[in-house]
Amino acid sequence: MGEKKKKIVKTIKVDLDKCIGCRACEVACSAFHANPKYSSINPARSRIRMVIDELNDVYVPVRAGDYTKAECMGRDKCTIDGKEYDEWCFCRASCPSRELFKEPDSGLPLKCDMCEDDPPQKEPLCVQVCRHDALTYEESEEEVGEEEVKLGEMEIGLESLVDKYGMQKVMDTVARMSKNG
Ligand code: SF4
Ligand code: SF4
Repeated sequence: MGEKKKKIVKTIKVDLDKCIGCRACEVACSAFHANPKYSSINPARSRIRMVIDELNDVYVPVRAGDYTKAECMGRDKCTIDGKEYDEWCFCRASCPSRELFKEPDSGLPLKCDMCEDDPPQKEPLCVQVCRHDALTYEESEEEVGEEEVKLGEMEIGLESLVDKYGMQKVMDTVARMSKNG
């Protein structure tokens, strides 16, 4: 059996009773991921989005999860305090069914990267700006069998381009760009 490795598990805990729907987390996330950093604010680029239902006092922050090329086969419905919410409301995936968690200009998928950066942040930005302690950050250690292969942002973006246009077209475009570049 292979040697066990340790990995740091990063968790953001959400306390829905404390969230007031101020959307500071969306603002901070989009500013942190702007290019150059902090040059613009656009919640549509945020990797955390709020599901807000003021009438029913429901505020749910949802962080972007993995990109998936297929629409899901089954749908969920959630009932909170007697009100039924659409099946997609709380889903974290960037997928073909909806515009959520897609970069608004390019359409490329967005995924929460826990604000990993160099130098590292003391906590993810959304946690830092949440004045109501609805978001709290935790790290723990976990043993894993093999080191997981982690896809970077560029690989996820390329994967979605290949899904959309096909491998040949992406390769031809890259070849043409590198000739021009
Ligand atoms: S910053 Fe905190 S309180 Fe405000 S919307 Fe985000 S999670 Fe909720
Ligand atoms: S951890 Fe960072 S990337 Fe993820 S939602 Fe929060 S601010 Fe955005």
